[in-house]
Amino acid sequence: MTDTLPTFPQSPSPVIIDGVVAAARVKAEVAAGICDLTARGSVAPGLAVVLVGDDPASIAYVRMKERDCAEVGIRATDYRLPADIPQKELNALIEELNRSERVHGVLVQLPLPAPLDEAQVIERIAPAKDVDGFGADSLGRLVRGERALRACTPAGVMRLLDDYGIDPDGKRAVVVGRSVIVGKPMALLLLERNATVTVCHSRTADLAALCREADLLVAAVGRPGMIDRSYVKPGAVVIDVGINRTDKGLVGDVDFADVAPITAAITPVPGGVGPMTRALLMANTLAAAQAQL
Ligand code: NDP
Repeated sequence: MTDTLPTFPQSPSPVIIDGVVAAARVKAEVAAGICDLTARGSVAPGLAVVLVGDDPASIAYVRMKERDCAEVGIRATDYRLPADIPQKELNALIEELNRSERVHGVLVQLPLPAPLDEAQVIERIAPAKDVDGFGADSLGRLVRGERALRACTPAGVMRLLDDYGIDPDGKRAVVVGRSVIVGKPMALLLLERNATVTVCHSRTADLAALCREADLLVAAVGRPGMIDRSYVKPGAVVIDVGINRTDKGLVGDVDFADVAPITAAITPVPGGVGPMTRALLMANTLAAAQAQL
């Protein structure tokens, strides 16, 4: 399985970037890392998974993450809390998890139900246990180019690019979306790897023309099929982060059927970035445990 990824740009275009195969490779590495750790007498990494309320999508995401944990050998501990939990109690739980020696990573499934304040919760997670990489310490270190746990989705995109031999160095990259969890860290990771990066958003003028300048186009918008071929330079690499639930099932931000034929490489939805996000959560949890043990 680990040797089946075609390498860009030698393969005939377009290369369909397979996030399922790449994620399996990451998870196999994590499983091997955990075997190493436990063989040396350490406990297996522990991930606390905090779910507040009963949003069906959040429940499904948490279930998948816990399945991944079981697959690689991470001890997941589930904290299911009622939607009306007082902020103080939730904050106190995070502090307790920060102190626990058996917990190496703390994941709070977002979004939190109103009126809970997400920022208060995220900022409480100890930086060493911030396996989602959303905290100010983790993001600040990313800005400064220092070691820290990186946000899983953009880190997963970087790993996909590496696995497929797509080097951002010197490339013109355009990221559509400026969220704290995807767009901004994505831009910073590409910058760290010497891409020349433009970040676009809902107020960007002439978005399609800017996107057409990209050798590497990352869509993280949340609008089904918004990026058609009028946004894409022929021969570009297109990474579709979007996950949109529609009548036709899960679709990305990129109109895959329209865009794929003119690209050098492209991620599908599903089966592209999504599985890598989950795999990188496992990798971050192992890295957090290694640093703490
Ligand atoms: P947000 O809603 O937080 O951010 C969306 C961004 O897109 C904003 O910066 C917004 O601009 C911009 N935007 C919205 N409409 C337009 C437009 N018409 N033209 C240009 N820019 C626009 O979303 P997220 O970053 O959290 O998620 C983005 C997508 O990625 C979603 O589909 C989400 O489900 C998916 N996702 C997928 C993950 C994965 O594992 N594959 C993980 C996380 C998210 P502005 O800032 O001006 O409002």
